[in-house]
Amino acid sequence: MSVGIEALFTSALGLAAPWGVAKVDLNTKQRRIDFEVRCSVKLLACPHCGCAEQRIHDRLRRSWRHMDFFQFEAWLHADVPRVACTACGKTGQVGVPWAREGSGFTALFEALALALCQDLPVKQAAGLLRCSDKHLWRRIKHYVDEARALDDMSAVEIVGIDETSVRRGHDYITVVHDLEAKRLLFATPGKDHTTVQAFAADLEAHGGAAADIKHVCQDMSAAYVKGVEEALPNAVISFDRFHVVALAIDAMDTVRKTELREQPQAVIEALGTEDRKAIKGLMWGMRTNPIDWTVKQTNVMYWLQRSGLKSARAWRLKQALRAVYAIAAQTNDPKRAREELDKWLSWARRCRLEPFKKLAQTIKDRIEAVVRGMTDNRSNAYVEAMNGLLQQAKRAARGFRTATNFIAIAYLRMSKLKHLPAHPFAPVALK
Ligand SMILES: [Zn+2]
Repeated sequence: MSVGIEALFTSALGLAAPWGVAKVDLNTKQRRIDFEVRCSVKLLACPHCGCAEQRIHDRLRRSWRHMDFFQFEAWLHADVPRVACTACGKTGQVGVPWAREGSGFTALFEALALALCQDLPVKQAAGLLRCSDKHLWRRIKHYVDEARALDDMSAVEIVGIDETSVRRGHDYITVVHDLEAKRLLFATPGKDHTTVQAFAADLEAHGGAAADIKHVCQDMSAAYVKGVEEALPNAVISFDRFHVVALAIDAMDTVRKTELREQPQAVIEALGTEDRKAIKGLMWGMRTNPIDWTVKQTNVMYWLQRSGLKSARAWRLKQALRAVYAIAAQTNDPKRAREELDKWLSWARRCRLEPFKKLAQTIKDRIEAVVRGMTDNRSNAYVEAMNGLLQQAKRAARGFRTATNFIAIAYLRMSKLKHLPAHPFAPVALK
């Protein structure tokens, strides 16, 4: 290495006195670049009490992985001084400016890792960085905890509460979003009413006030209703479109499955095909939007609609509820929404399909919250968008999907945290 290269890397690594690069070792075969960093002074401040000009007791050898320089894997090495303090009597290792205490990565490497994990599955980010995903998960948790500790929730007034699961049907997580700032505020294992209390406590711990929450958008779960009534005393509840329509789809599915099980012959005759497996597949069209139907599905749905099957009635009821929501969204008029919903409810009550009669009763019991949710398009759209992001967060935790990891990556990606390390490749601001 020529003279001056150490000085060049000292500034490239952002080091300042008393730290500087003493030696650069480039190994092209191993594609590795090693920096020997040295502390040039004999006296240092005590890391415990801050007392200046203390004697260095000894030095401990340590190494840190840094961001690659070009295609070379970069490592920093230093004999880190330990100071024997005459003031407090303790002996302690001084901190290094390029890494946080106890980490084997430099701060810039960690910042790059976090930036990659915002967009890539953690396992894939680990592959690109050539480190273990276990190490990345530990850092994600560390920085998310640190950033959340400084998070400000004082302006939160409108929230959405929803449940998701770490694995399909297992390990439920309750998530709370700020529907105005469009970010994830809180996530915790479980889906009972205590999760809402836990949210209220977390909100208060971050400068918010449970009494300031004016509006909660949620699904029709009785547990969340109870939780909101107990923990968020001034909030009105609205049930979002997504979940109410999902209940209608569930009711329709129950009708369809029961009919196929109890009266298979009637279904076969109406749809003109014998193959039960094919029928099952084609009746999947009942769940999807007509414009997405395949030719075969279009055919089956044609015969279904002209049949006297209970499934046909169930499908019409589900479509009609969708239409009620569409009218509510177009007119944005709560009175009109209520009228349309009342018409639907009276049909559903008289339809002689038990699952729909039950659903009609559920909706009727909480009609005001349902109607409020019908014209609340902003929340409706947001709940659906958030669901998409949660699915991505789930995929990002593939291979290491615990509730803790899922929650950590969801916070990293969806909370718009202001106190995370800056992206190391962010453009330098012009002065
Ligand atoms: Zn001291």
